[in-house]
Amino acid sequence: MKGFELKEQNGVAFIQLPTLSGVRHAFGTRKGGEGILAALGLEPQQLLTLRQVHGAEVLVWKGKNSPEVLPYPPICDAVVTDRKGVALGIQTADCIPILIVDETKGVIAAVHAGWRGLWRGIMQRAIRTIQDTFGSTTADVMVGIGPGIGPCCYEVQEDVVGLFQRSHDDYQLFIQKKGRRSYLDLPSATRLQLVKAGIPPENIEDIPLCTACREDLFFSYRRDGNTGRQLSFVMLG
Ligand SMILES: [Zn+2]
Repeated sequence: MKGFELKEQNGVAFIQLPTLSGVRHAFGTRKGGEGILAALGLEPQQLLTLRQVHGAEVLVWKGKNSPEVLPYPPICDAVVTDRKGVALGIQTADCIPILIVDETKGVIAAVHAGWRGLWRGIMQRAIRTIQDTFGSTTADVMVGIGPGIGPCCYEVQEDVVGLFQRSHDDYQLFIQKKGRRSYLDLPSATRLQLVKAGIPPENIEDIPLCTACREDLFFSYRRDGNTGRQLSFVMLG
C-alpha cells in the first residue's frame, strides 16, 4: 500500500508508512514529543539518538564484533544496524528524517539530511554502507522520506546554490529559480540521491508535508527560529 497514515493516540500524533509496516517506526510531529516512544510501546532507554552535525558520516553498529555500548552520543548524521530492540532516532525541525529498512537482510538505518548532508552525498553513503556491510541488495531496500521543509518555503542564498552548482550536475532538478530567488527542494534532492544509489523509485515513499507550512503539525526552524524538534525512529524486533 502506498501513501502515509497520520495517527493520533493519547495526544501523540505521528506518521507511519504502510511500506515500512514490517518494522516498528514512526515520524514524529510537535504533538506529544517523545511520548511517541510510549505510544508505540518502547522504553526510553531503547532509543539511540545522534549528535547530528550536518556531516555525511555513517555509523555502523553491527550486532557482532562491535561494542555493546557506544560512546554517547555518537557524532554523526546516519546510523545503520542489524541489532534488534534498538530504536534509531533522528531529530529534525526542517531537515529530512529518512528511515531505511531491508527486511531480507534484517538491517535498518536512520539518516538526518539537510542541505549540507545532501551536498556531501549522505544518502549515497548510507546506501553504500548498507550494501558493503550487510550485503543488502538495493531492490530489497525500502525507504521512507519524512516530513521536512518543502521548496515552497526553503529559500537559499547564492552561496548554497553555487556549492551545488559546482559539484552536482543535476542541481537544477532540486533548485528552483523563481525570479531572483532560489528555492531548494530537500525531499527531491534526497530522492535523487537514493535513485542514483540504485534504489528503485517504487521503493521510496515520501511524506509530502512541509514543516514550515504545517504549523499545526511540525516544529520548523525556518519559521520559528530556535524551537523544538520532532523525533522519528525505526526499530527491528
Ligand atoms: Zn512550505
